[in-house]
Amino acid sequence: MGRIRVLPDQVANKIAAGEVVERPASVVKELLENSLDAGAGELRVEVETGGRRLVRVADDGAGMLRDDALLAFERHATSKLRDVQDLFSIATLGFRGEALPSIASVSRLLLETRSAEETTGTRIEIAGGKLLDCGEAALARGTTITVRDLFFNVPARRKFLRSEQTELAHIASLVTHYSLAHPDKTFRLLSGASELLSVTPVGTLRERVYQVFGAHTLEELVDLGACERELVLPPPYVPPTEAVESRREPEETLPRTFRLRGFVSRPQVQKGNRNSIFIFVNGRLIRDRLLLHALSSAYYNLMPAAAYPFALLFLECEFDEVDVNVHPSKTEVRFRHQSFVHDFVRDAIRERLIESRPAPAFTPGASAGAGQAAARLPYSEFSQMLESTAAAEVSAPPARQAGAAESAPEFVLRPQPGPPPRLDFEGPGIPSAEPSAEAPKWRIPDTHGAFPPEAVPPPAPSLAELSDLRPLGQLQESFIIAAGRDGLWIIDQHVAHERILFEKVLRQRAAGAVEMQSLLMPLIVQLTPGQQIEYARIAGELNASGFETEPFGNRTIAVKAAPAGIPAGELEKVLFEILEIAEQELRGRSLDDVRRNIAASIACRAAIKINTRLDHSKMEWLLRRLAATDCPMSCPHGRPIALQYPTREILKAFHRI
Ligand code: ADP
Ligand code: MG
Repeated sequence: MGRIRVLPDQVANKIAAGEVVERPASVVKELLENSLDAGAGELRVEVETGGRRLVRVADDGAGMLRDDALLAFERHATSKLRDVQDLFSIATLGFRGEALPSIASVSRLLLETRSAEETTGTRIEIAGGKLLDCGEAALARGTTITVRDLFFNVPARRKFLRSEQTELAHIASLVTHYSLAHPDKTFRLLSGASELLSVTPVGTLRERVYQVFGAHTLEELVDLGACERELVLPPPYVPPTEAVESRREPEETLPRTFRLRGFVSRPQVQKGNRNSIFIFVNGRLIRDRLLLHALSSAYYNLMPAAAYPFALLFLECEFDEVDVNVHPSKTEVRFRHQSFVHDFVRDAIRERLIESRPAPAFTPGASAGAGQAAARLPYSEFSQMLESTAAAEVSAPPARQAGAAESAPEFVLRPQPGPPPRLDFEGPGIPSAEPSAEAPKWRIPDTHGAFPPEAVPPPAPSLAELSDLRPLGQLQESFIIAAGRDGLWIIDQHVAHERILFEKVLRQRAAGAVEMQSLLMPLIVQLTPGQQIEYARIAGELNASGFETEPFGNRTIAVKAAPAGIPAGELEKVLFEILEIAEQELRGRSLDDVRRNIAASIACRAAIKINTRLDHSKMEWLLRRLAATDCPMSCPHGRPIALQYPTREILKAFHRI
């Protein structure tokens, strides 16, 4: 007897569930997409314990006929696809007929549905893929699917679920973004008794953005309007011998139109991670490297490479230009004309950005924004750096020993050979805020504290030397030039002050004595659902760090006091920065990380900016205080603070040795 067997449906469904249902948010996604496909105008999502105990999606869509309702749980049963040709012109979000059987195989599912054509509804109960009950019920038109105890029969999967907060954040993000894709529909998201999102139909995407993110975000966004580009295919090459039967179908030579609309942030708005980038292709929320790349290329030179914009992009094209059948979860796509799509998206965004803001503010002379920008990093890198900084702080000996350079490289200066290594010269070709005569301009390059790995570490400059530096003056009102025992030092005044304040805030926090300033008027801040969740989690830590905040109505908080030193105008930004958490961080972040992150944000905002004149006594004060810090070599974001040009190198450059 042979050894190969065809797996029973129940097993096959469970296997498929492994791909389709990764976490509660995947259930929400599949159910929402089904509701949208059913033409619903009102979508209501209810969850409990981050979706583990309960996910319920209710819609007022077309509903299902009795016979269809049972069939829907058969594998590959779908009303959206008939033959293989349809696969290349998919207008619906679903088409694989896998979601319902997959979800039903790993949960206790209740389907309640009534189609307009029937007077009574249908109620079907399934647990772990087994039909428990099927009957009639009096129901309103539409469909409600309740999924309880996800993965109750797959303990291995259950173990992979993250904290309730993390799972809830994924769900909130998902519902928020589907609501953005469908401004004409009602969306509600409830977690237990609290309402995280509730939006009623509006006429434009702009109004929906306002409903979801508030006026503050809207002000910072550039409307892309309606961008279009036609792809004209070259006439097919037909070898003379085959002239009669052309290889390409005639319609393939027709121009194909790609359309892009949505919002992107002004270059000054810099996010630490990709969490604020949402891309929809033909109405489907996707993650796509090609389009992410196109987006960052659009911002090239307008924003530091390590920062990310906010973006809400809707790309529309002919269905056969994009293959959506790449992965069971349908979050990946493949474009037929990749480089065309890439360039179109890049150019459309870039043109609008330049049009709306002809003078990028990234020369330090232009605005204070540049100073802030200089210290932004993607959140993941940032926290990794905090960790490595912390490790270095613990392990670094008080005075440098030989070999220390290898053991704690984050923390050691390695001047690069050649002329002043950390400053780039920017030619006059780059547009500048003030078209002044004294071009070219200095620009602070985006170094992020990373040293080229190939640089050979010279003997590490001694930390001790910092304490007897003699300030000589300022370069570009941004860098302090100082003479030391064994060389010339350049100190970035902003990050130096940042380090001083960072340690001070942490010390004060540990002692429970944070310096605060009361606000004359409480500041009212509106939060997105994601920020609201993070706020709920860290409110205690925020208050202990000097922010006196309290909930103030729906997704709104009132700030009554703030840590000393933060300019009033930047308070909101600091809060948003703190509440902005990358997905991966949500999983692994301890309260200690949160504390450090808060301290780093406060320090960054309160620190002296670059392009600030400092008199001699201030420079001296700054150097002394820097020398007294635990880790004077890198700022809380991991950037270098001071560069040393060793006397030895100076002597070599003058051919004296
Ligand atoms: P797919 O969406 O790929 O077709 P699903 O397993 O998600 O597969 O759903 C199977 C079928 O059940 C759908 O094709 C649709 O006919 C029906 N269905 C599912 N959810 C709904 C809903 N909310 N309203 C109406 N019909 C639905
Ligand atoms: Mg579906």
